[in-house]
Amino acid sequence: MEVKIAIKRSNAQTNGKAISQAYSIEMDGNRTLLDGLIRIREEQDPTLAFRGSCGTGFCGDCTMTVNGKGAVACRTKLGKALKKADDGIIEVGPLKLAKVAKDLMYDAENFHWQKFKAVEPWVDPVAPPAKGENVVANDEVQDLRAVMSCTQCGLCDQGCTVLVVDKTFLGPAALTKAYRAVFDSRDSRTAERLQKLSMRRGMWDCTHCFEASEHCPKRIEPTDRIFALHDKAIKAEAGPPKVVHHYKSFAASVKAHGWLDEARLAVETEGFTNVRGLMKLLPFAVKAGIKGKHPLPYMLHKKRPGAEHIKRIFEKWEDNGK
Ligand code: SF4
Repeated sequence: MEVKIAIKRSNAQTNGKAISQAYSIEMDGNRTLLDGLIRIREEQDPTLAFRGSCGTGFCGDCTMTVNGKGAVACRTKLGKALKKADDGIIEVGPLKLAKVAKDLMYDAENFHWQKFKAVEPWVDPVAPPAKGENVVANDEVQDLRAVMSCTQCGLCDQGCTVLVVDKTFLGPAALTKAYRAVFDSRDSRTAERLQKLSMRRGMWDCTHCFEASEHCPKRIEPTDRIFALHDKAIKAEAGPPKVVHHYKSFAASVKAHGWLDEARLAVETEGFTNVRGLMKLLPFAVKAGIKGKHPLPYMLHKKRPGAEHIKRIFEKWEDNGK
C-alpha cells in the first residue's frame, strides 16, 4: 500500500525552523512506523534524523509525536496510523515537550537524564544481617519489577499537564525511577530520599490528573507511583510540614464529620504554633465571613447525615494497614 508521511523537520538545512516534509513509500500496513522511517532514510533521504534501536518496544528510544499524540514508533502500525490520520497523511514530529536536537531526535540530556540523576535512582543498601543476606519479599519484588520495566520512553512526561506549563517539574518518568529506590526495603536512605523529592518542583507539584498513567505504554501507572510516594512521605512525616499537616487534617476532618471543615483545614495546615502563618489567614477569614462563607470552627462543625458510614470506611481502611 502507498503510505504518505509528513515529517516535521528542523535542522541546519531549515535554519532550525520546523518545516513539514512529505514522503511517500510502498509498504505493508502491518509494518511499523519505525520501519517506514528507516525505509525513507535508506532510500530517499539519508539526512533524516531519528532514534530507534530495539524495534520491539523494549528500549523506549523511538518515541515521537504521531498524529498529534505521543507514540513509540516501533509499536505503531502504519495501517492503523493511516486510519487515524487526517487527509490520509500520517503526521510525525518530535516529542512536544522536549527540546529538539535534530528532526525527530530530542535532547535526552535535558528531557530525561538530568532529572533521573536528580532522584539518584540506585539502591544504597543497609548492611546485611551478620549471618545471611537482605531478603526481599516476593510481593515487593513483583512490584519493583513492574516499575523496572519502564523503558524511559518519556510518554508519561509528554502527557503530563504540569510539564506543559513548567518544564522544570521533575515529572512522572523521574518520579517512577525514584519509586524504584524508595520502595526497595534494602535501601538505607528512604527518609532522606522523600525529603529530597519534596524539593521545589518535586513530587508535590503533581496534580493527580492521571494523564501519566493514561500515556504509559507499559501500564506502570506512574500516577499511582507518585501517590504512593506521597503516602509514604506523609506516614513517615518526611514531606514539607504544611503538606503533611494538610493531608492529615483533610482525612481527620472527613473521618470525624463526613465532610470537609475548611476552617479546620486552614488552621491545621498552618499549624497551631505558626502564629505568623495564622495571622496571614485572618484577612481571608474576614472576607469569607463577610460573604457568608465562613465555616464554623471545627469544634462546632456539624456532621453530615450518614457520617458514621464514612467513619466506618476510614476505620476499615486503617485496619487494612493502608
Ligand atoms: S513510566 Fe511508562 S510512560 Fe513513563 S517513561 Fe516509563 S514506560 Fe514510558
